[in-house]
Amino acid sequence: MSPLPEERYFAAVGDVHGHMDRMVRELQAWTRHARRELAFVLQVGDFEPHRSEADLATMSAPARYKQLGDFAAYHQQRRRFPWPVYFIGGNHEPYGYLDTAPEGFELTTNCHYLGRVRALDLGGVRVVGLSGIHDEAAFTRRRPPLSRLGSVSNRDFTFFTEEDVERAMEAGSADVLLLHDWPSGVIAAKDGAAFQGRRRSPSPEDVGNPYARLLVDALRPRLVLCGHLHRPYRGWVEHAEDVRSRVCCLSSVEEGPGAFAVFRVTGKLLQEVTWMGVPDP
Ligand SMILES: [Zn+2]
Repeated sequence: MSPLPEERYFAAVGDVHGHMDRMVRELQAWTRHARRELAFVLQVGDFEPHRSEADLATMSAPARYKQLGDFAAYHQQRRRFPWPVYFIGGNHEPYGYLDTAPEGFELTTNCHYLGRVRALDLGGVRVVGLSGIHDEAAFTRRRPPLSRLGSVSNRDFTFFTEEDVERAMEAGSADVLLLHDWPSGVIAAKDGAAFQGRRRSPSPEDVGNPYARLLVDALRPRLVLCGHLHRPYRGWVEHAEDVRSRVCCLSSVEEGPGAFAVFRVTGKLLQEVTWMGVPDP
């Protein structure tokens, strides 16, 4: 008899915006509640790992949103992430810090930036990540080098480019695709009305971007994780008969349960489990 495949769990977390303490508290509450351990944590960007005011100054955001947050304590090893955390960059990040290693790096114990584009294997789960958001004008340009920081807008560092998307396509396949903004065309017709007339989504067709969708269609991941809109949602992208991608959109950590999801991995199976009794959004 062949041994049963080992069962493992990982968590997905929406925009953190510097609230690492709350993120850790909520995830620890889940591990106690479920009596399970997490193998790793995937985070969809807007993590905001500022070591100091100097990092914060390189983030693109209105002044009222420029808060240092909790990260410095983790960086100084006064606090510690209990599980390995892997994050991509969103549109609010200290890119003056992150772009010092655009291929990704470990910022502090158990805290890994995946870089602008990255594919990696986490114990048999193939994760592909793409940092940044889409902007039509910036897409076909090159991102400014870090040496231009301060002489160009911080916003210029927040976009992914055509080259980034092409590199992500080269990953060929993925189990989990990590994106900041949503792929376009994920909102089911029955949910359309709820996306009408919202900020960043005048209509459901305006939600997400076509290049994120292109990646979903090319890599056919079993799971797509995204944040950015601070709004929990679950959708599907159909590829062929019996081939589809589950799309899990998460809200921000400050908003509570909608920012968290946990998945069980058994062999090649990947299933969402309930978050402390909270039903699917
Ligand atoms: Zn955000």
